[in-house]
Amino acid sequence: ADVTERVAAITQGANPALQRRAMAKAITLLESTRADHRAQGDELLTALLPFTGQSFRLGISGVPGVGKSTFIETLGLYLIGKGLRVAVLAIDPSSTVSGGSILGDKTRMEQLSMRPEAYIRPSPSSGTLGGVAEKTREAMLVCEAAGYDVVIVETVGVGQSEIAVHGMTDMFCVLQLPNAGDDLQAIKKGVMELADLVVINKADIDPNAATRAQAQITSSLRLLGMHGNPDHANSGALWQPRVVQISALLGQGVEGFWEAVETYRSLQTGNGRLQLRREKQALAWMWERIDHGLKLAFREHPAVRDMLPQVQQEVAQGRLAASTAARNLLSAQSGIAQEAIKT
Ligand code: GDP
Repeated sequence: ADVTERVAAITQGANPALQRRAMAKAITLLESTRADHRAQGDELLTALLPFTGQSFRLGISGVPGVGKSTFIETLGLYLIGKGLRVAVLAIDPSSTVSGGSILGDKTRMEQLSMRPEAYIRPSPSSGTLGGVAEKTREAMLVCEAAGYDVVIVETVGVGQSEIAVHGMTDMFCVLQLPNAGDDLQAIKKGVMELADLVVINKADIDPNAATRAQAQITSSLRLLGMHGNPDHANSGALWQPRVVQISALLGQGVEGFWEAVETYRSLQTGNGRLQLRREKQALAWMWERIDHGLKLAFREHPAVRDMLPQVQQEVAQGRLAASTAARNLLSAQSGIAQEAIKT
């Protein structure tokens, strides 16, 4: 199919089954590593871009077992009930290490996956985290072009993949269990600094513990804000991170959650922060991909390939300073005199 046909099939949802097929094909094309596919994918993305940007991009993270899939199913069905269409994407960090899967279980979100208003796509299954994240970002754009109102990007609570999801969404939510030990962990790991909204799940099990956790995390977030997370400055015109309680299993608190999301969205749209966040994200992704591409090209350069084994050994054994080695290699690759290399 040529690009115009592909774009039409994705953006015109008159036939939902055909639209889904077109989306799946487009995402598969974008996930391909073949050079000719890559060129077609770039052309397709460029043609889709004018149709993107209207969705709300919601990141959701939390440790395994905290209730992410239960929550996303409950939330998804709630949003469909409000007349919205919902796409769910995932970044599974285990797939980038072992080709395994923490998130990919087929039985997850059984009810949601049967709804025509929902589109669920598992994590790209292999590659570097940067590569998987980029593919997910592109899949998100396909979903937006297809008119999904909310795109949820899910990941598991381990540093790098959370940073990636935070870097591609409008709002980043961290799910927590209602016990204090857990919060401290998250605060230590720096995840809380990323959170726009903390969601305490399983509040039904121990409502008192959930309320205590809510108070504790609220004051921790206030402290973090005071210490200068620029996204969460202590200014009345900006969003202050909040903490809500839910029971994903019983469907309690989902309305309150969504109210917080809508408040965030209208506040951050009004003060220009949402637009700014997207602009910064797009540029950050460009540079991330440039860094990655340069590094690949560098390693493949014949002069570098020749020198590398020896130089690495010398650096490892302490016979050559790391900085000198880097300048030697960069000089060999670029042809620029060693003294003129800036690192
Ligand atoms: P995930 O690994 O984060 O996706 O977690 P799951 O959604 O698979 O949930 C893990 C387990 O916790 C499942 O047995 C769920 O039924 C249960 N669970 C999820 N949310 C709640 C909740 O709000 N209350 C209770 N009591 N159990 C929950």
